[in-house]
Amino acid sequence: ELVDDSRTVQDLVRQAQQRMADEHARARALEEQVRALEGELRKLSDEVCTDALTQVANRRGLMQAFSTESARREREGDNAPLAVGLIDIDNFKKLNDSLGHAAGDKALQSLSAAVRERLRPVDHLARFGGEEFVVLLPSTPRADAQQALSRLQRSLSASLFMHEQQEVFVTFSAGVTEWRPGETLEAALERADEAMYEAKRTGKNRTCAA
Ligand code: GH3
Ligand code: MG
Ligand code: MG
Repeated sequence: ELVDDSRTVQDLVRQAQQRMADEHARARALEEQVRALEGELRKLSDEVCTDALTQVANRRGLMQAFSTESARREREGDNAPLAVGLIDIDNFKKLNDSLGHAAGDKALQSLSAAVRERLRPVDHLARFGGEEFVVLLPSTPRADAQQALSRLQRSLSASLFMHEQQEVFVTFSAGVTEWRPGETLEAALERADEAMYEAKRTGKNRTCAA
């Protein structure tokens, strides 16, 4: 009877060990699944913040960057001014009409990459609409932002990309302003837009400040 009993106990122990091993394996598999889902989620949220054509931020991405940067401006005060710039490609309709929509798309992609390359890593670039882009330049007074965008314009005087063995040149006009604590991004963009129109009116390929 004693031998029988100890066999039963041994069986129970073995079964319990087996169950534990099974549960461990299941937990590991679930952990892996959670990690994969987390990765997928990160990728999806990146995608909804990114413009599909140019791979820079879209409006949603811009709003995210703005909430981070405006909070920093409020925290750090006057020594962390936040410059807001609006960029609009010059004569883009003509480029589309003469070289075709695909070349227009290529221009948007090449311009985004060129601007991204020349900005500081802390700066934000977003596609705001068709051929309009917004830049947020943290810790940058208005005059410095105007200088930075003018420098960008000069650096684009070389051809931007090739289309059917032709060099394509693209210029843009820009308006810059400083975000004022308490106001919305839209309010700052309205000022930047007025300055951008002044740049268009006064000959394009330049940056005005408001
Ligand atoms: P301005 O110098 O005054 O800015 O003139 P513009 O021709 O650039 O301005 P307008 O607003 O008249 O034309 C913008 C054009 O941009 C019209 C539209 O066909 C084109 N566009 C907008 N989004 C896209 C896009 O995703 N791809 C391409 N290829 N073209 C686009
Ligand atoms: Mg436009
Ligand atoms: Mg335009």
